[in-house]
Amino acid sequence: MKTIYLDNAATTPCRPEVVEAMLPYFTEKFGNPSAIYNLGQVAQDAIQQARKDVAGVINAASPNEVFFTSGGSEADNWALKGVMDAYKGKKGKHLITTKIEHHAILHTAQFLEQQGFEVTYLDVDKYGLVSPEAFEAAIRPDTVMASIMFANNEIGTIEPIKELAAIAHAHKVIFHTDAVQAFCHEKIDVQELGIDLMSASGHKLYGPKGVGMLYVRRGVRISNLIHGGGQERGKRATTENTAGIVGFAKAAVLAEAEREEQHERQAAIRDHAIQRITTEIPHCFLNGHPTQRLANNINISFEFIEGEGMLLRLGAKGICASSGSACTSGSLDPSHVLLAIGLPHEKAHGSLRATLGRDTTLEDVDFMCDVLKDAIAGLREMSPLWEDFQAQGK
Ligand SMILES: *Cc1c(COP(=O)(O)O)cnc(C)c1O
Repeated sequence: MKTIYLDNAATTPCRPEVVEAMLPYFTEKFGNPSAIYNLGQVAQDAIQQARKDVAGVINAASPNEVFFTSGGSEADNWALKGVMDAYKGKKGKHLITTKIEHHAILHTAQFLEQQGFEVTYLDVDKYGLVSPEAFEAAIRPDTVMASIMFANNEIGTIEPIKELAAIAHAHKVIFHTDAVQAFCHEKIDVQELGIDLMSASGHKLYGPKGVGMLYVRRGVRISNLIHGGGQERGKRATTENTAGIVGFAKAAVLAEAEREEQHERQAAIRDHAIQRITTEIPHCFLNGHPTQRLANNINISFEFIEGEGMLLRLGAKGICASSGSACTSGSLDPSHVLLAIGLPHEKAHGSLRATLGRDTTLEDVDFMCDVLKDAIAGLREMSPLWEDFQAQGK
């Protein structure tokens, strides 16, 4: 049976070119990048080249603004804890974020609250959009920073980052964005958009797991994350993950080069699938913004069914998809994102997230639509809720 992988927002496979670029740094180019002999310098040069390449992709003013981390979660943790700590005795203790952030942001914000910081969690509208007016109204004299995601990992909605960053700056608030889902999927020019800090991760763009970055604009203070040696300009000690960093940069450069072409291709397949599902299956609706959304994101709620049963039926046909974020599936709590856009619990439970990748074809999504039609009909046959609904109709 062919596997049809439609969970690219959860993770992606490494591209062969990325693996190839990484391999020498495990073996013959294994030197410690801090060592001054040639073997060390070879590794150091590779890291500096990777830093330059990544800075180029986001148009950072300097490669020194790019800090490599162990992934998106670490970058998110560091951004919030590091900036709030650095300004706590100066500007204040207030942080603004949203109700639809990834748990790497939400749980960090909750931790900061336990430490005595104050956090405002902004609501979103039914599409998952943050209101710039509500954001501005939430800013206080002691607001240090705002963290608003670039694009949501569940429903794909893309936030008005440029406008939000401009509002933040008008009030001298530092602006961080979790761009893990958007990096190399959407065009990101940190200078043009006014982003002060930004998180990204390798494994969401065909790079390795366990490596990511935090962009920190020059002039923004951030406390050191790992104390030890002088790596990452003394801010994050530990001997660099040379192979991972090389792989991350390679993946970013490759993804950025094909970004526009892939965006157009995937958006067309996405729209075809959404059109088919919402017209061929009764009692379902699209979650997220109809147009301001990631090119690869399909998120649809089906009434009168449980997402888990649907995923099992898709899985039996080789289709890998999800019904919430990877971290929340497996638990019985409905997605905090779907609740934040106003779905009642029972509708949030019956949702499908299918996220396309660079290899996904129109045939793949057509097959998914066919399997889905049968799966939903079969599940409804067995659903008491569906039976009640049918009975009321008569
Ligand atoms: C995947 C993801 C993360 C976490 O990244 P890791 O590299 O897996 O730690 C953070 N934020 C968003 C929006 C994500 O999609």
